[in-house]
Amino acid sequence: MATDHPDLAPDTLTVAAGRPPREHDAPVNVPIVLSTTYHETRAPQPGDRIYARGSSPTWDPFEEALGALEGADLPALVFGSGLGAAAAALSLVPTGGAVVMPRHAYAGSISLAGDLAAQGRFELLAVDIADTDAVLGTLDALAHRFEAGQVMLWLESPTNPMLEVADLAVLTDAAHAHGALVVADNTFNTPMVHRPLEAGVDVVLHSVTKWLAGHSDVVLGALATSDAALRGRLLAHRTLHGAIAGPFEVWLALRGLRTLALRMERSQSTAAFLALHLADHPAVRRVRYPGLASDPGHERAAAQFNGFGGIVSIELDDVATADAVVEAVRLWLPATSLGGVESLVERRRRQPAEPATVPEALVRLSVGIENPEDLWADLEQALRRATGGRDGGL
Ligand SMILES: *Cc1c(COP(=O)(O)O)cnc(C)c1O
Repeated sequence: MATDHPDLAPDTLTVAAGRPPREHDAPVNVPIVLSTTYHETRAPQPGDRIYARGSSPTWDPFEEALGALEGADLPALVFGSGLGAAAAALSLVPTGGAVVMPRHAYAGSISLAGDLAAQGRFELLAVDIADTDAVLGTLDALAHRFEAGQVMLWLESPTNPMLEVADLAVLTDAAHAHGALVVADNTFNTPMVHRPLEAGVDVVLHSVTKWLAGHSDVVLGALATSDAALRGRLLAHRTLHGAIAGPFEVWLALRGLRTLALRMERSQSTAAFLALHLADHPAVRRVRYPGLASDPGHERAAAQFNGFGGIVSIELDDVATADAVVEAVRLWLPATSLGGVESLVERRRRQPAEPATVPEALVRLSVGIENPEDLWADLEQALRRATGGRDGGL
């Protein structure tokens, strides 16, 4: 691989990292290798490929590029889905340990951790991740009952879909002081907006399905860490439990990653534009977007992040109005998921796994890369139709 670009900016890394070697007649882009097995002309040695559940020449460039983007000293590890990556991360908690998770973490992560807790693998504690004192109190209380290495702090910031912002550096330092491991789900921010490893986090998680791949056509996950021992355990988990990615999906993800900087820039600027318009709209009770000066997470996000992301959540009067808005859009697509080039809209509580503390009339907007005025015009007409004309007198 053409590696080691320590001095390059992240937007350059998205393009330059993870390329085949610069050799005459070598391909400029990564070929897809589908072979499940590799020639063995001598006794196996550590690092040999041998068999495609363990490693793949099509994974390597993506893993190298994502590791570099997250500022990790080591290549990332790609998994068959974000939840496959989450399962590997949770496997680092010893049996009988404890996991502290945001009560508004991604619903699938909560369900997975809840399932493992119900099986007696570990204790699960849900916290308001934006309430730093409460999280510190929970970590202190656990320190009396658990030994170093038994506790994991799971961070997601901003949370999905409430967009609450955690103080990552303070929480990570406190967790480390108690000997806890810290995992951060960086799906919403992407490394263009924040690099949790730089705040001291041990393992970064991605649903690559979302912004990194960016085209709503692959399901993949990834973990990144600078800790070789942790990476070894996560790799062993991937190989043994088999949550591996297909080479074609990883090839698509690397192709998507090449335009991450441009897509994020556009999504974020349009999200900010829409959030301002929505905040002024009489039919919208509340806009959740850390980029708004009035948002409770604004100061923290501005201090920690290099942007405010491409997700905006709005709260409407009631479920009927929220459903009517989703039904009335013509350009926005009514669908779950997020982070693709196409703008998606969803009332999150339609998903049974979504926590009951997420307001029922909350609608999550995943802002794509279409023309901002077209996106606003469509939302405005949908709000007008859903509310019978309460559009500020137009
Ligand atoms: C979608 C998502 C996941 C799960 O990823 P999959 O690729 O769907 O398995 C995890 N965390 C967040 C924040 C997500 O949005």
